[in-house]
Amino acid sequence: MRVLLSNDDGVHAAGLRALVEAFDGDEVWVCAPDREQSASSHAISLHRPLRLHTLGPRRHAVDGTPTDAVHLGLNLLLRGSPPDVVVSGVNHGPNLAGDVHYSGTVAAAKEGALLGVPAIAVSLASPPPQDFGAAARFAAALARALHASRPRAPILLNVNVPPGPVRGWRPARLGRRSYGDQVTEKTDPRGRPYFWIGGEGAPVDDDIPGSDCNAVFREGLVAVTPLLLDGTDQRALADLGRLAPADYAREPGP
Ligand code: MN
Repeated sequence: MRVLLSNDDGVHAAGLRALVEAFDGDEVWVCAPDREQSASSHAISLHRPLRLHTLGPRRHAVDGTPTDAVHLGLNLLLRGSPPDVVVSGVNHGPNLAGDVHYSGTVAAAKEGALLGVPAIAVSLASPPPQDFGAAARFAAALARALHASRPRAPILLNVNVPPGPVRGWRPARLGRRSYGDQVTEKTDPRGRPYFWIGGEGAPVDDDIPGSDCNAVFREGLVAVTPLLLDGTDQRALADLGRLAPADYAREPGP
């Protein structure tokens, strides 16, 4: 297999190193941000130059976002000879439920899927010190299976691995987790206020059977969640007929 690896924790992160080792024997390309880019979501750099640093054979760092890294990996480094799969991670920490909207790890994989390559984002839900080996080996096995299945449409799998050895995995839907609504205000040394998003407590995961949160935290299983690239809410689309903004005619929808 030819694989493109990336992440949002930076090219030197231990989780990415573990992925490289797990794909031993494959043609492994790395194109990742040159520094930590967690919670950067799907940002792409369109208004400044990007620099590509070659760290070794097939090993590259970009001074940009995770999306920039995968974009350059596919449309520059591997142009004309696309990889069989893009794998992003192993992230330092989980990307469960609504985390997927903020995650640079998920975005890097999503960029691969949007550009037509089957993609996997893998995150480890373990506090430091983390051992990324088990998560990386599971991701590699899943990547092989995904490649062998010859998916016809672009596919994006979000994978979260519980701490410890992998006992098994489960297909799971996105759950729901809350980080609270706290914004902390403090004063900087120059006397000006600054703000910090997020409270100090751990996120609260709702108990939702079949969810990724339940699989990882209540059942100790790897959660595998396929994510849509077309984010259209089909149910709400059907219901839009009930909305009637005054003075504007509505044409039929799809
Ligand atoms: Mn990260």
